[in-house]
Amino acid sequence: PSKEESSSGPKKITRLGLEASKDVDLPEWYTQVITKSEMIDYYDISGCYILRPWSYCIWDRIRNFLSGQFKKLGVKDGYFPIFVSKAVLEREKTHIADFAPEVAWVTHSGSSELAEHIAIRPTSETAMYPAYARWIQSHRDLPYKLNQWNNVVRWEFKQPQPFLRTREFLWQEGHTAFRTPQEAGEEVLQILDLYARVYEELLAIPVIKGRKTEKEKFAGGDYTTTVEAYIPASGRGIQGATSHHLGQNFSKMFEIVYDDPDTQEKAYVYQNSWGITTRTIGVMVLVHGDDRGLVLPPRVAEIQVIVVPCGITASSTADDRKSLIDSCKNLVDEFLAAGIRAEGDYRDNYSPGWKFNHWELKGVPIRVELGPKDMARGEIVAVRRLTGDKLTLKRTQAPGELAALLEKTHDEMFAKATKDRDERLSIHTKWSDFTEALEKKHILMAPFCGEISCEDNIKKDSARNDDDATSDVKAPAMGAKSLCIPFEPPRQISDADVCIHPACKSKPKFITLFGRSY
Ligand code: AMP
Repeated sequence: PSKEESSSGPKKITRLGLEASKDVDLPEWYTQVITKSEMIDYYDISGCYILRPWSYCIWDRIRNFLSGQFKKLGVKDGYFPIFVSKAVLEREKTHIADFAPEVAWVTHSGSSELAEHIAIRPTSETAMYPAYARWIQSHRDLPYKLNQWNNVVRWEFKQPQPFLRTREFLWQEGHTAFRTPQEAGEEVLQILDLYARVYEELLAIPVIKGRKTEKEKFAGGDYTTTVEAYIPASGRGIQGATSHHLGQNFSKMFEIVYDDPDTQEKAYVYQNSWGITTRTIGVMVLVHGDDRGLVLPPRVAEIQVIVVPCGITASSTADDRKSLIDSCKNLVDEFLAAGIRAEGDYRDNYSPGWKFNHWELKGVPIRVELGPKDMARGEIVAVRRLTGDKLTLKRTQAPGELAALLEKTHDEMFAKATKDRDERLSIHTKWSDFTEALEKKHILMAPFCGEISCEDNIKKDSARNDDDATSDVKAPAMGAKSLCIPFEPPRQISDADVCIHPACKSKPKFITLFGRSY
């Protein structure tokens, strides 16, 4: 920065940049990156966080994408109340057994206790389905497809983590009803594909699609499908989103029936429910961020190109300054016209150097620097957040070239995340190799019998008991959970396979993905 720039800089002593390294102290790095980039602020209730505009806008983009896709599938939006009566919540027994410990209750109004305590929804199956029983009467009412964008509350006792595991989170929950299990099953996968696209096409994160094991599926449903992502820095898998087939379990409980024209009898509908949450944003931060801050995938970045005026010195006149700012504003307009989300940072109380750090920390994909000399030459300088590369471009060509560069950046980020995952995704048939790879932060594929008791043993016996100082301090001894039974395994089960747990006597049924997880 020039003399004038440095003397006009802010007098704050708070450190702008990150003071923790992702490799050395991941939890501290995560805290710093999400607060200093202005995504999250803390709140005085544990497990609840403020989503600031810099993170909310990403949720907005995910929401817009999905909303458009849901509508193409004939899904309509609606809204149900946040409160659920005790009687309704507890009507489906297996379902409530799963959620009971996490349900938050309203017990009082003012100082008087309510005669009937009211639950805050942890999910809305039981809140919605009494209405479905009224609305669905004829086969002509099917398929019935409703979605709501809302918040839910799960008073989790696991360590809360911003975005990844919060006590209140934003999501959408789709609840649909069909005549046949085939139609319902088809939709389960259509929705799962959309969730995979959110990760892969918007957030540049590869996911593995599959089915949950009996132990991990949604209680009360027939089966659960999932997209699973991987966080290289912690070596842990994370459930990205789920699409459940509920079968007729809820329709039988809530009497959701229609007159079947073929049999002239009442028939129970087949149902699905599906959801994706603000966890997506945390996965994005963890996969792509680096020691300088966030690295935003271009397709969700609210600002894709930030223009920073440079080169104003003590000898610059007011006219020089005005002509530079005007030129920057025109440049921003040219970017906008090329379909790029661009802004200029014209604040006069910060130096260009300060602004560079600021936008780097916030992960903006491309910074454009424009100074009087660049203006005279008809050039601009572009700096890429992902690589740090500095490019000098002809100004007239810059909008087109940067639009293409943003697309390329998405592809490079996706390729890098895929490489990082694939290097730590290994397939095993021997238990000792399995546990060894787990220690090396791998996620693992292995033949598995699918039994709940065997999965419990795998988790218990793969947990580490000593305190390994190099490991993630928050989870020193966590065992491997099943993440999913991939739809596209690297190979099929053969006769020679045995279940990965050494004490298991059952035949393996499928190649299953395991790992430490969030
Ligand atoms: P579920 O209704 O339990 O299938 O949850 C749907 C999705 O929500 C899961 O696949 C997770 O990705 C996500 N999720 C679950 N619990 C939380 C939480 N406490 N905070 C944020 N996201 C969550």
